[in-house]
Amino acid sequence: MGGGEARIYDFAVVGSGTSGGVLAYYLQKAGAQTLLIEAGKRYSADTFPRNEADYSAQLFWGGGIEFDSRCTMGFLRGKCLGGGSVVNQALLDRFDDVAWDDWRAASGIDFFTADAMAPHYEAIESELSLQSIPEDRRNRNAHLFTQALDCLGIAWAPLRRGQSHCATEQGNDCMACLGGCHRDSKQSTLATFIPRAEALGLEVLSEFHVGRIESDRNGVTIHGTGRDGKESLQAGACVLAAGSFGTTHLLLASGFGKHLPALGKGFSMHPQYMTFAEFDDPVDAHKGAFQSVKSADFGLRKKGYKLENVFAPPVSVAMLFAGAGAPLQAFMMQYRHLACVEVAVRDEATGELSLDRRGRLRVRKVLTDNDETRRDDGLSLVRNLFESLGAKSIFQSPLYFGLHLMGGCAIGTDPRSSVVDETFQIHGVPNLYCADTSVYPLAPGINPALTCMALSHKLAGNLSKGKRERRGADAGEVWV
Ligand SMILES: Cc1cc2nc3c(=O)[nH]c(=O)nc-3n(C[C@H](O)[C@H](O)[C@H](O)COP(=O)(O)OP(=O)(O)OC[C@H]3O[C@@H](n4cnc5c(N)ncnc54)[C@H](O)[C@@H]3O)c2cc1C
Repeated sequence: MGGGEARIYDFAVVGSGTSGGVLAYYLQKAGAQTLLIEAGKRYSADTFPRNEADYSAQLFWGGGIEFDSRCTMGFLRGKCLGGGSVVNQALLDRFDDVAWDDWRAASGIDFFTADAMAPHYEAIESELSLQSIPEDRRNRNAHLFTQALDCLGIAWAPLRRGQSHCATEQGNDCMACLGGCHRDSKQSTLATFIPRAEALGLEVLSEFHVGRIESDRNGVTIHGTGRDGKESLQAGACVLAAGSFGTTHLLLASGFGKHLPALGKGFSMHPQYMTFAEFDDPVDAHKGAFQSVKSADFGLRKKGYKLENVFAPPVSVAMLFAGAGAPLQAFMMQYRHLACVEVAVRDEATGELSLDRRGRLRVRKVLTDNDETRRDDGLSLVRNLFESLGAKSIFQSPLYFGLHLMGGCAIGTDPRSSVVDETFQIHGVPNLYCADTSVYPLAPGINPALTCMALSHKLAGNLSKGKRERRGADAGEVWV
């Protein structure tokens, strides 16, 4: 459709991360001329910043970390082509029945079952290389973790990772991939869906920050600022894939809050708490496969938290310590001797996203009593694990973070309590859709990325089906 300067795309996808990359691929593959818009820069395996402070500043929103309105909790979200999929750990888990049952009850949507979603998971999994780290390639941090879990009779399982050729057996440090994978091994959308879509004709516009959207029956106008200043783009329809913060911000800034009372409500984040323990012998948790095993115990699942062996690069570890000067120096001198286990809480979706007077996103999130009980239970279990291993000392970081930002545009059948309907259309707004993590009605307590991709696959299928049905009558002129 269209051409020249005033080109009108069949679809514009705003945000190129976990959801946006998948949508762009399937829409373009179905024959729709699609534009993928991303606020961040385009990097590649060769150009990702190498230094920890540089990549935090350049690949993340807020120059590394954003905070809630009381500055008690930090949030990390990727800002680059590929979004969260470039900076995340690529741990790709399906939801279990607990998560689907809770989502079905909260949203009223009947396809939220393991069976109904299985074809969408399968489609995504067939496009990716998924691997677990074999036992002989797990680092000592992982071995200490599983040894302690075995000792306390807690079930664990290898993590499933989206990676193809990490070469950890050759001494490659997997931890570096948090700043973008230098080997194109991590299965980010930047390394998978986006280049495949580009080969089919996808257009990509990076460094373009979308500020406002107008949508009516005739199509969508997307107002934003790019390298050449302010610009407005046209598309027949638009899919918002800017993540929990980005999509909610955009809808609020575009004035949709007036008729969508649930917009901005129901934010959750899986608060994560890191506990370090010092051992006599080096642990070298920064070597090899960074995260390889997780707790897989139904008792913990019911209690509302999970454990993962995890670590962080040196600048981040220093930041997690409560103190400065000589105590910090002494702590960092032990870097090679530190092990770490993280508690991730399945929190209640009580957070709220809104705009301040200057139009900036404000995050209000207070942990509920249930959240705190889950956290305390998890932290005391981690202490028991390290004590059972004879750790010399144990250090609980006072900071906690949300890496899994979810909600703000909950999906559901009732427009009074949700923002996105069961077809992934924004309630009552023609031509505007969303299937990213902003639609999560509740925290699943499971790594969210794979399900976000599966939902995006389902939405792309709905939109392609809309095109086929219309084409019979309209001779291929319109898509949705
Ligand atoms: C350090 C880290 C580790 C993680 N590890 C895991 C893991 O192992 N497994 C897992 O399942 N999840 C993990 N996550 C979470 C996971 O990455 C996210 O849940 C997922 O990427 C969210 O997908 P999304 O499409 O909703 O948003 P994103 O992937 O965040 O994509 C949103 C994109 O939209 C862009 N954008 C935002 N606003 C605008 C705008 N106004 N204009 C233009 N573009 C805009 C952003 O720059 C971004 O690129 C991790 C996250 C982090 C930060």
